[in-house]
Amino acid sequence: MEPIVVLENVSVNYNSPEMETKALENISFSVEEGEFVSVVGPSGCGKSTLLSVISGLLKPSSGTVKINSNNILGYMLQKDYLFEWRTIENNIYLGLEIQNKLTKENKEYANLLLEKYGLIDFKNKYPSELSGGMRQRAALIRTLATKPEVLLLDEAFSALDYQTRLYISNEIKNIIKKEKKTAILVTHDISEAVSISDRVIVLSKRPAKVKSIHVIDLETNGETATDARQSPKFKDYFNEIWKELDIHV
Ligand code: ADP
Ligand code: MG
Repeated sequence: MEPIVVLENVSVNYNSPEMETKALENISFSVEEGEFVSVVGPSGCGKSTLLSVISGLLKPSSGTVKINSNNILGYMLQKDYLFEWRTIENNIYLGLEIQNKLTKENKEYANLLLEKYGLIDFKNKYPSELSGGMRQRAALIRTLATKPEVLLLDEAFSALDYQTRLYISNEIKNIIKKEKKTAILVTHDISEAVSISDRVIVLSKRPAKVKSIHVIDLETNGETATDARQSPKFKDYFNEIWKELDIHV
């Protein structure tokens, strides 16, 4: 089977009258259906730019992005962008409304996800009544409601406190696996990437190039947030990737 996402020699330059910024240089990789791939790289290296070209919102300056699916776009960001004046129910319909797909069937599916992932009792509450982790879960359900095949997550857990982040990142990985989606997460957090991914792609500092690709096999089932981190292989992956990241402070 063909990979669901294929990037070949993708470069992106941002041009303004004052200057040219090279953000991505010759990026090539592919992602298989059902895979959870993380992309790590130093801050400012071009990670968000990479997701923008995969989503089709930004055209590469050269190279090609091929998506073998007709409903790719499911974006999750650092901020959950839930609307405070709408109930959780009306928030999770938002993506459907925007895409003009607010049918009875799709609403039922959105409610099924609320039920399945423990938010049904919060359906009529407002976002301010939910914890940070629950809000992020609601944001994921809003994204899943539109049935995207590929989810793009941009530092989706970075705004949460440490404990919540451990718990939610793992939970969201489990939901994405259960729903059989493909996910591409960009993050600057090596531990997060190693603990929830099938593969980790390491980018260089700007302009981002692919430095290495690691297949992660922690030999645990990864059901709980601490499983992965307790694997003896966890620190080996962490140290290897840490050495490759150009972090200068
Ligand atoms: P990251 O997500 O890894 O922090 P970004 O992809 O946001 O990095 O940015 C990579 C580089 O491209 C940065 O130097 C940033 O300032 C620049 N950049 C990002 N977006 C734009 C834009 N719309 N116009 C010009 N430069 C941009
Ligand atoms: Mg970014």
